[in-house]
Amino acid sequence: MSGKEWFGNSYRRNLVDMHIEDWDQRFLSQLNPENYVAMLKLANVKSAMIYANSHVGYCYWPTKTGHMHRGLGGKDFLGSIIQLCHKEGIDVIVYYSLIYNNWAYEQNPDWRIIDINGKPSRDSSGHGGRYGVCCPNSEYRIFVANQIEELCRNYNFEGIFFDMTFWPTVCYCQNCKKRFMQEEGEDLPTTIDWNDPHWLKFQKKREKWLSEFTEMATGVVKKIRPEVTVEHQSSTLNGPWKYGVTSWLTKHCDFVDGDFYGEFLHQSFICKLFYNLTPKMPFVYSTSICYPGLRDHTTTKPKELLRSQAFLAIAHNGAFLIIDAIDPLGTMEKRRYQMVGHIYSEVSKYEEHLGGELCQDVAVYFSFDSKFNHNENGKSPSPEVINKYSWVLPHLDAVLGCTGTLQTYHVPFGMVTIKN
Ligand SMILES: [Zn+2]
Repeated sequence: MSGKEWFGNSYRRNLVDMHIEDWDQRFLSQLNPENYVAMLKLANVKSAMIYANSHVGYCYWPTKTGHMHRGLGGKDFLGSIIQLCHKEGIDVIVYYSLIYNNWAYEQNPDWRIIDINGKPSRDSSGHGGRYGVCCPNSEYRIFVANQIEELCRNYNFEGIFFDMTFWPTVCYCQNCKKRFMQEEGEDLPTTIDWNDPHWLKFQKKREKWLSEFTEMATGVVKKIRPEVTVEHQSSTLNGPWKYGVTSWLTKHCDFVDGDFYGEFLHQSFICKLFYNLTPKMPFVYSTSICYPGLRDHTTTKPKELLRSQAFLAIAHNGAFLIIDAIDPLGTMEKRRYQMVGHIYSEVSKYEEHLGGELCQDVAVYFSFDSKFNHNENGKSPSPEVINKYSWVLPHLDAVLGCTGTLQTYHVPFGMVTIKN
């Protein structure tokens, strides 16, 4: 519940994915807070992450600063859920989508991230398509500050999770061009070249600008509600350079939390990386109950797989967060919550024994300066090129290969990074 360090022993968490439009009046028309919280109880959830908005940009509360989802019929979904969760002793982490916001994008063409081909995301199959992405260097940041302030002043919650705190692609909007000219006296470079100081300077700027935006979001929360914990989407920490995210992200988080869809070796690597990077424990490892990932909303993972993933997270003293997906009408699948209830009941038996330090006989170095591919050199930073090379990262492959070998020979290892 509210108060200091609510998260310290919160190992069983849940989120229901709800990126639902409202062009059909049936969408979310059957969303029922009482039923939602009954499912959380059935699943033995300790902390629930609840949508305040989604990538669509519509708000799940009666907002004065944005646009409310039509399917809710004016009812305060967020407020009701918070009240019901607290009555049941469930902590609430409010979910808020940054950067990805269709409504803000459609309302304000000046706020859009523009790729090197001059295209905003919804006009470019290579960089989004479904979602409108807004530039953190635009006045979108004022809108964000007002929305966060509205949430913090009107609702009582334990934590807030900001999703999508990253650059989806390299932005060439007027705001970015102007800012680079003002700060560096130069035009933005238009060729990827990891040997070119001009390109390297731009990449460092992208990281710095995003860090400032992230600090702003965290700062608004902490100024109004210093006791509320702040998390930003952290799955980008091991992701490619295009995101502009390195260890600076952890300075603006109470703990790190990211969602992943890889196999066990990848989870082991992530848990050790997060263990190294998180400011406070436990870090959070999030994954879907859908199989293999969230795009497959209606297929459910085998219980044995989800159970193994939950125990792998807590074996590293991390919390586990299960992501479910809402039916567009707003209903939830009871059998999934029964299954999670069995797994989380089992997890709860071990919680009093968790803590301590990981055994790490060998350190594997992960470099934030090596999240790129030399084969990109000389190419245009277009969404098509970036997507082609994004996940072909030789350094990451080497790290995973190394950790796989250590695991095969049962050598306890940890990850080490240089924080900048
Ligand atoms: Zn921009």
